[in-house]
Parts: sequence; structure tokens; C-alpha cells
Amino acid sequence: MKINVTRFFELVGEKQDFEFPLDMSDAEVWGKNPICSPVTVKGCIQNRSSIVTLAYSASVKIQTLCDRCLCEIDRTLDFQFEYTLVKELQDTDLDGYILVEGDTLDLSELCYSDVILNLPLKFLCKEDCKGLCEVCGKNKNLFDCDCLNSQIDPRLAALKALLKE
Ligand SMILES: [Zn+2]
Ligand SMILES: [Zn+2]
Repeated sequence: MKINVTRFFELVGEKQDFEFPLDMSDAEVWGKNPICSPVTVKGCIQNRSSIVTLAYSASVKIQTLCDRCLCEIDRTLDFQFEYTLVKELQDTDLDGYILVEGDTLDLSELCYSDVILNLPLKFLCKEDCKGLCEVCGKNKNLFDCDCLNSQIDPRLAALKALLKE
């Protein structure tokens, strides 16, 4: 969705709400495409005492597999973004400012990159997911297995040696 921003720069008090679905199904994150359903983008652009602001939220449904245990994840992440729009900018690295060149601002493009940049580095079913056992492949969140312990615990190894004698 593109929006013509000229009138927001010209008219104090000018305001417009917007809401649109954004297809991000082709967004690739670490080799996966976790955003199968359209993102819901809702926001408002307005001129408040000659300062043009853009505030919006993006509701992102994540459907992918846990990076550790491979179980299915189906959850919604909500993001909020707020910017000040300017027609000229001295320091182009300033956070929170968007330099609008020309008359239009491409909200879809902006939201697409905002969401990508704010996705977590890993998708985990839960913060402390224990993952899969490297030896037997069982999901360690659901099953207890002793594979690793029996392999690396020197005390157990010593005990086994004793039992054999
Ligand atoms: Zn997991
Ligand atoms: Zn195991």
C-alpha cells in the first residue's frame, strides 16, 4: 500500500487511519518461510503541530518448526512502530526518522522490512526448549533419556566398570 503524504506535510491536523493485509509468505528467515498468513497492518499517519508522524502495528502469525525440537509453532507476534516523517534530513542515520522523497511512502515496503528486522533470531517452541537428544533423537521436552549422561558422565562410566568386574 502506497500513501500520498504531501497533504500531511501541508495541513496541520491532517490525519488518516489505515489498515491493510500484507503478504509476507515469500519472506525467508534462516531458510524458512514462517509467515504463511497475511500480516495485519494497522496504523495512523498524522500531522500534529506540524510534525508528521506514522505509527502502526503489525500482527504477524508465525507458523514454522521449533529450531531445536522441530515441533510445530503457531503463534502471533505483535509489533509496534513509530516514525517521524521528514522531507529533508541532515543525518541519514537517525533512528526513527523516515526521509520521504517525492510524494509517496510505500507502507508495504516499510512494514515488510520492519517485520523482518524484528523477528527473533531463533524460533523456539518455548524459551527453554530442550531440543532433541543427539543420540536417540527423542524430544527431550517430552521424554527423559539417559543417552548423553551415560555417555559422558565419568562417574557413571566408573560405576559401570566396577559392575563389570
Ligand atoms: Zn522446541
Ligand atoms: Zn536420548
